[in-house]
Amino acid sequence: MMRVDYGMLEQLIGDSQALDRAIAGEDLSYKDGLELMNYDNLHLLGAVADARRKELVGDTVTFAASYYMNYTNVCTASCQMCAFYRKDGAEDAYTLTPQEIEQRVGIAKQMGATEVHIVGGFHPKLPLEYYEDMMKIIKKNHPQLNIKALTAAEIFYLSKLTKNSTKEILSRLKDAGLDSMPGGGAELFHPEIRKKIVRGKCTGQEWLDVIEEAHNMGIKSNVTMLYGHIEKPEHIVDHLIKIRDLQKKTNGFITLIPLKFSLDNTELEQEHLVNNECSSVYDLRVIALSRLMLANYLNNISVYWVAYGKKLAQVALSNGGSDLVGTAFSEEIYRAAGKATSSSVDELATMVKEIGRTPAQRNTHFGILKNF
Ligand code: SF4
Repeated sequence: MMRVDYGMLEQLIGDSQALDRAIAGEDLSYKDGLELMNYDNLHLLGAVADARRKELVGDTVTFAASYYMNYTNVCTASCQMCAFYRKDGAEDAYTLTPQEIEQRVGIAKQMGATEVHIVGGFHPKLPLEYYEDMMKIIKKNHPQLNIKALTAAEIFYLSKLTKNSTKEILSRLKDAGLDSMPGGGAELFHPEIRKKIVRGKCTGQEWLDVIEEAHNMGIKSNVTMLYGHIEKPEHIVDHLIKIRDLQKKTNGFITLIPLKFSLDNTELEQEHLVNNECSSVYDLRVIALSRLMLANYLNNISVYWVAYGKKLAQVALSNGGSDLVGTAFSEEIYRAAGKATSSSVDELATMVKEIGRTPAQRNTHFGILKNF
């Protein structure tokens, strides 16, 4: 680990015990987290997070060549923060067959994808065999691709639908080719806020229980945090502490992806519960806090440039972020909420070089595949 000289920062920090502890490499408490969510000097907070980033993972900014795919937009849930779902039978509802999925994956592989990120709604009629067939046909034709598929929330739903245990579902999917899992569906774990932003989805604790089972079976996963809607600072801090606690037990999380809430076409917008997306200043605070709260346990903090745009993503990388997610060849969920979602590995490398850092393409598990 590279030791950073904190001399100047230590002088500036003054009486912030939380930042003192962060610099000393100690675990931050719930109270520390709250202090930093309300800390008025955002520049200093970002500078400490950036220094910790340098110390923990160096100057390389990684990114994976991912193909994002949504196999269906049919969903029995109706989350207030979601613009993507359709009811079964709706005019613009769709479900891809395993063969259609494999064809798309084949094209993505030709474009350079090394992993496929496959998620969808809670479809009430798809049997477990559909998912097994999906994994098998991809694995058979593209054995070198990492299949990162189905969130813990989807696994939980499938378990209820098919009356199999979540362990049984995970085990069958792993046998069929599942390599890793995306971090979606985590949203915010705290029940007080979760019930206001999701409807018909598992609880935060159920999400954590499923992902713990997956980790214990050797299936590593990402984890997300949906922020910038109607949460309070304590919900963010609670979420990060729960991630850290589980990571101490399983070491199964690969990276944290803070996800900025996207306003357009969601029920939260239509009911005027959220009228504006959160400020860039808040985005940077969340990235910095994520770095400091998870330091020493989960040192990959991903910046989801699709939601930020490239310029803000560059600033986020200077406030604690160390990874860009991702090379999204397609990403219907954010497109449904009005965001452009296409980039290439070379564009991401340029974005990193522009801020004086070192770009590197990685695989799913943060092994370096290519330097630029
Ligand atoms: S967030 Fe997921 S579970 Fe909720 S409505 Fe949208 S697709 Fe369905």
